[in-house]
Amino acid sequence: NRRYQHIWQLLDAWSLVVNYIVPVRRNKLVVLHSQVLPNSVSLGHGAFGEVFKGKFVPIGGTEPTEVAVKRMIGEPKRINCQEFCQEASIMAMLEHRNVVNLFGFAALQFPMMIVMEFVPMGDLKKYLRQSSNISSKQISLFALDIANGMRHLASRKVIHRDLACRNCLITKEIRVKISDFGLSVNDLEVVVKNLRKAPIRWLAPETLNKGIFNEKTDVWSYGVLLTELMTRCAADPLAPRDLKEAQRWIKEADHPHRIDGGDPRDFAEMVDYCCEKSPSARPTFQIVKKKVQAIYQ
Ligand code: ADP
Ligand code: MG
Repeated sequence: NRRYQHIWQLLDAWSLVVNYIVPVRRNKLVVLHSQVLPNSVSLGHGAFGEVFKGKFVPIGGTEPTEVAVKRMIGEPKRINCQEFCQEASIMAMLEHRNVVNLFGFAALQFPMMIVMEFVPMGDLKKYLRQSSNISSKQISLFALDIANGMRHLASRKVIHRDLACRNCLITKEIRVKISDFGLSVNDLEVVVKNLRKAPIRWLAPETLNKGIFNEKTDVWSYGVLLTELMTRCAADPLAPRDLKEAQRWIKEADHPHRIDGGDPRDFAEMVDYCCEKSPSARPTFQIVKKKVQAIYQ
């Protein structure tokens, strides 16, 4: 750790120019010496990273573009680096209007950085809390955008594992892009032993009990996200934060996330459907998309 202290001090002088690798779509990596000039405006942080605003200067010398730069936090240990690389490589696999777009990945330096499109209106949770009188129609459009983005993830065999309003971003056209692939995996199913980093209140029963993650557990989280939309994130999801308590709570209730009231009312049935205790009774994102489309129209 002593060894790294010096590096960290240097890095705190946060004006460095980054030489980075631009992942070109579909498995090809091309090294480009472009520049990213991050500045100190923090856009937000979650449990695993800090995101800053920055400027991307393309090699051709054309106009700089605004970008968001996520920098790895934690010590430069192998495991942290691997996880951060995984996050970037998942982003590189995705290409959809409802998914945040990756520009590049700075892998040859510390801290490593993910350079992505800047989504100006911030995250959906903050947006819902700060705006007043958001219409049912607008909420249904958010739900539809997220369903479309999630269907793209499922089609690329990506499990998000942390779908929640805090990880969705709002564009200037007031549409949604799914973001934060820090826990995501490229697989049809994974089983984890440790739920230490997992968002307990958004998790399905089979995840809480057996550590299973797949499309159907993302669908459950989507059901919980619908309750966030219905309440405009005024309250937290109903589930307890503690793993043991959450396991007990979910076992006892028939429809754990069913809420009274909320707007739009039509979502109540979707919440029950997405949060069916049996995974096989839940819809796929393809079906979710069709149902939400019908509600929107
Ligand atoms: P963590 O993995 O730590 O949760 P996130 O990727 O969720 O990090 O980013 C944390 C916060 O930073 C988000 O909730 C959002 O407010 C802000 N943010 C992230 N990416 C962007 C972006 N591309 N444009 C604008 N704000 C962003
Ligand atoms: Mg996050």
